[in-house]
Amino acid sequence: MTNPLYDMLLGARADSAAPLLHLAGDGVVTYAAMDASAARVAGLLRARGLGRGDRLAMQTAKSPEALALYLGCVRAGVIVLPLNTAYTPDEMAYFIGDASPKLVVVDPSAEAALGQPAREAGATILTLDAEGAGSLTEALADATPTDAPEPCSGDDLACLLYTSGTTGRSKGAMLSHDNLVSNARTLMACWRFTSDDVLLHALPIFHAHGLFVACNVAMAAGASMIWQPGFDAGAVIAALPRASVMMGVPTFYTRLLADEAFTREVAGHMRLFTSGSAPLLAETHDAFRARTGHAILERYGMTETGMNTSNPYDGDRRAGTVGRPLPGVELRVTDPETAAPLPEGETGMIEVRGPNVFKGYWQMPEKTAEELRADGWFITGDLGVVSADGYVTIVGRQKDLIITGGYNVYPREVEAVLDDQPGVSESAVIGLPHPDFGEGVVAVVVPEPGAAPDLDAIAGAVRSQLANYKRPKHYLLRDALPRNTMGKVQKNALRAEHAALFSGTPEDMAKAGG
Ligand code: AMP
Repeated sequence: MTNPLYDMLLGARADSAAPLLHLAGDGVVTYAAMDASAARVAGLLRARGLGRGDRLAMQTAKSPEALALYLGCVRAGVIVLPLNTAYTPDEMAYFIGDASPKLVVVDPSAEAALGQPAREAGATILTLDAEGAGSLTEALADATPTDAPEPCSGDDLACLLYTSGTTGRSKGAMLSHDNLVSNARTLMACWRFTSDDVLLHALPIFHAHGLFVACNVAMAAGASMIWQPGFDAGAVIAALPRASVMMGVPTFYTRLLADEAFTREVAGHMRLFTSGSAPLLAETHDAFRARTGHAILERYGMTETGMNTSNPYDGDRRAGTVGRPLPGVELRVTDPETAAPLPEGETGMIEVRGPNVFKGYWQMPEKTAEELRADGWFITGDLGVVSADGYVTIVGRQKDLIITGGYNVYPREVEAVLDDQPGVSESAVIGLPHPDFGEGVVAVVVPEPGAAPDLDAIAGAVRSQLANYKRPKHYLLRDALPRNTMGKVQKNALRAEHAALFSGTPEDMAKAGG
């Protein structure tokens, strides 16, 4: 038996002096050095009694040492839980209780607050700070590296990746070696990664995008990464001339476009920009193309499945779509009520099946049964439509679907009209509790910098383009939409903030257009 994920990431290049990470300044971490670090981590884990199938939770800043910790877990057959650095101690206590890791690695500042939940779960805590220092690093100095990766089967779990949990408790998606290996190999081929590539890596590594799409694909190809601790437009612009590929969330691209130093020359040497984790506005796609000549390649995936669809490397990268299903991934659209497959061109629930689809939710058999069918189809929770030539368009999450007076309103359709109006930078359309209609459609509009959009004119444009029941009953202006670190608009936060909009006095209701 081998260790499928480790073999793909590092095993094949364990002795290679080729660069893996380019750090700030002239620092370089080679493949061989990273393999040695991972072997040391694996040795420490073994000495501390962690073996195949045990869990390790990590909530650490992005650093080469944090990457080595992930890779050391894979080498040791230990299931790793990468956790968002924004989680509070209370949230961390939930993850520690749920996953019962034997070891928890956190920033030194979080150690005291996590002492009790760790003790209750029988876990010890080690620390790692943003500079790579802490009790983990001290313990590693005395660790004996393991000679070889721990043998694992393709079905063994490599990772528990918690969903962002915008509705209810976060769930631990169980991802196997085969899930991660198959997806990385598929993306590497589709996006033509080779060992000559230099990936500009500015994403966080606690999320599938930065860890499994970016790091795993780059390492599977033997490519190197320009390793930046986070997204900073100036640092990205300075590094782009040395890179060949960049992966980003849509906000990376809007921020680059907002910077005059981001020119055609800066991007001239790049061969690929990809976008995902949230919808890329067609307007951003077009503006990026006009500025740089590059068509951003948009793809679609999620924690539970890795990547499902991608626009083509060669061929039409269609703005506003997420492209076609990846090789080996089946995708269908079903009726959310009856689960019957829908004919092409009809909007419904996106379901996917393939080697990328996870093994279920950790210790949640009922949730797993609700979302993962016995025949392997995963109900994504995303609503979408497939064109005659196979391109998938996502219209939103099912939980964001608005049902008003018995009619379905897909927020994306209304947002597209609003985004086209003069002075509008972007918008979010939400449903709020409404005494008559169940939910009332509400538009949250963000003006372009310095603009004051004419809401009456916007309402007029909406009237001319959309059926009555789809039209917002109320418009709210705000400077920015609330987003999480992956650039996703937090509609639940907007709904919570304005929950009482339609529940006031009759006078309030009249004002709210209800
Ligand atoms: P996560 O599990 O945090 O990766 O979030 C997955 C969700 O992000 C998906 O179910 C989609 O709702 C959304 N998502 C990912 N990529 C895209 C995309 N290219 N366009 C629209 N939504 C996306």
